[in-house]
Amino acid sequence: MLKRIAILGSTGSIGRNALRVIKALGPDYRVVALTAHNNAELLAEQVRKFAPDVAAVSNPDSFAQFRAAIGSLPCRMIAGAEAMEEIASLDEVDIVLTAVVGAAGLAAVLKAVRHGKTVAIANKEPLVMAGALLTETAKETGARILPIDSEHSAVFQAMQAGNRSEVKRIILTASGGPFRRATAQQLDNATLQEALAHPTWDMGPKITVDSATMMNKALELIEAVWLFDMPPENIDILIHPESVIHSMVEYIDGSVIAQMGTPDMTVPIQYALTWPRRCKGIAPGLNFEQLAKLTFEKPDMELFRAISLGYEVAAQGGSAPVVFNAANEAAVEQFLAGRIKFTRIVELVEYCLGKHNVKTSLSLEELLEVDAWARRTAYQQSARKVVH
Ligand code: NDP
Ligand code: MG
Repeated sequence: MLKRIAILGSTGSIGRNALRVIKALGPDYRVVALTAHNNAELLAEQVRKFAPDVAAVSNPDSFAQFRAAIGSLPCRMIAGAEAMEEIASLDEVDIVLTAVVGAAGLAAVLKAVRHGKTVAIANKEPLVMAGALLTETAKETGARILPIDSEHSAVFQAMQAGNRSEVKRIILTASGGPFRRATAQQLDNATLQEALAHPTWDMGPKITVDSATMMNKALELIEAVWLFDMPPENIDILIHPESVIHSMVEYIDGSVIAQMGTPDMTVPIQYALTWPRRCKGIAPGLNFEQLAKLTFEKPDMELFRAISLGYEVAAQGGSAPVVFNAANEAAVEQFLAGRIKFTRIVELVEYCLGKHNVKTSLSLEELLEVDAWARRTAYQQSARKVVH
């Protein structure tokens, strides 16, 4: 049966991989809508190749450039932040693949869920900030939220080996990032270039920095709480530097089911699109003879404070994850711009959490207010001189 797909954030790392997957899947999978933020040239090229019915540029400043690059192609063009929401609710869209980075994707994800779409979700930040709202709305509308994040895809696949009530715990694996072996002093002097050099995965800049601070694993912990309706105390984090086991599920009888593969995002992207079927993929296979060994270690929660903060925030719930995510987004932006040092990122997140009184049962508007407050607070605090 034909599946019609909209990709939000098609110019990013996940978006580009998703297009490779769809091309290889053949005519049963059709791209009907694409969106970009700044990269008008690449979006135009994708429109030429995939001939979607509609394409959107969420940053209106890039629209003129996009229109010029498109020329006379028969594609409806829209601009502005609401364009993603419009696309997420189109009748002619079956699957909304969300590959936008950050909280900017929230409104569109919620719109897709409200319209009962299948949402293939890479964009983890909306799930972290609005997990309750998204999953409750999905229950009402029948929308399915299928994970693309490799760990969550692994858990989703491993969950199919038993009943949900038979699951004892989830084990999220983590590569450990570029600073796995670093000392506190090395972390303190970490450069942008070092933070952007991920050992096993090739990803966009924000998630690459999140992997270096281990904030990514903390966000994934909260993501797993919502995707699998699992309390944080039943989710463990395990460092596995080879990134071969993408995560595991332990059942009550002691069986542990692991999903393995090369570190290639086309596998989880494809599974979210073809589920419940499997189709021939484009990722290279795993060569067991060439794998020297698989190793595991406990994360250093003191050095990587983000992980313990993640557990605290996941247990608190309510608005705590909103602050956690928004302060981190603001801090990473500052770090990428060269304005703060690496270790300041998690310090700023902790500072904002300390200043916040947790609220529960938040509407979308209230969530966005908390998000804006946390960003403002992180920016203001980052501009202050640190006195040791
Ligand atoms: P990239 O930075 O590579 O791409 C981000 C995409 O979002 C681009 O298409 C960009 O458009 C668009 N975008 C950026 N800002 C906005 C905005 N304010 N409004 C609308 N669109 C915007 O990110 P990734 O592909 O690496 O990551 C995307 C999401 O997937 C993140 O949430 C990440 O955590 C998650 N993820 C990524 C993995 C990976 O392997 N990359 C693995 C697992 C999860 P443009 O380029 O035109 O500016
Ligand atoms: Mg991941």
